[in-house]
Amino acid sequence: MDMLYDMHCHLDFADEADQVAQGSAQARIEALSCTVVPTSYVSDQDRFAAYENIRFSLGMHPWWVADGRVSEVDLAHFESLLADAPFIGEIGLDFAGDRKKSKEHQIAVLTRLLQAIHGAGDGRVITFHAVHAATPLMDLLDDLGTFECNQCLFHWFQGSPEELSRAVATGAAFSVGKRMLTTERGERIAAAIPEAQLLLETDEPAHEGSSWSVAAWRQQLEETLISLARLRGVSPLSLEAVILRNAQALLAHPST
Ligand SMILES: [Zn+2]
Repeated sequence: MDMLYDMHCHLDFADEADQVAQGSAQARIEALSCTVVPTSYVSDQDRFAAYENIRFSLGMHPWWVADGRVSEVDLAHFESLLADAPFIGEIGLDFAGDRKKSKEHQIAVLTRLLQAIHGAGDGRVITFHAVHAATPLMDLLDDLGTFECNQCLFHWFQGSPEELSRAVATGAAFSVGKRMLTTERGERIAAAIPEAQLLLETDEPAHEGSSWSVAAWRQQLEETLISLARLRGVSPLSLEAVILRNAQALLAHPST
């Protein structure tokens, strides 16, 4: 296999992140690494500046918003960084379990972030996290016109078949990872995403301070690609070529 694109990971969560970044180009990995707060975006850009195969995305993760870990200072920081941030995410809504209690707050924060993005200029790649919230998220994106003016990317889409159809019709991209393929529902979604909108992800490392390696990264991407090809009834090589094209097109999105 040739170059593999991980379109949703969290490189800065790895305890050996510098070592992993250093080996990634040689392992033929390209990545879009999401951040969860603006301070991480700033430090990642500086820390990993030498690695052109890894791009960083300006994020404000809904878990951090739901848990009250995002202050007015963080929101203003996010807004101040927008001018030079072609990649945004991950941002979104998560209404699972206790996080549902902060629903109104999450919607208010996300609305503010999206309005700031529109104000600073569209044409960006925006990565979304939506758990038990695909419909409210898409309602908001429709209301604000986000889909038309930006390339949206749903990571680990978990909505219903109706929500998937609606998301597909917006022209958004979908990154599929190993964990999505461990459930029947996830497999159904992964099989139904149109080929031209399909991307790979690892969403690894899962937590801050986790151990991670270039070998594990490459292996997970390869295994996910093979499982996905089997599920969709196509050869891994042909799927690899399609996903490569999709990822390159997305990373070359107009303003990025
Ligand atoms: Zn993530």
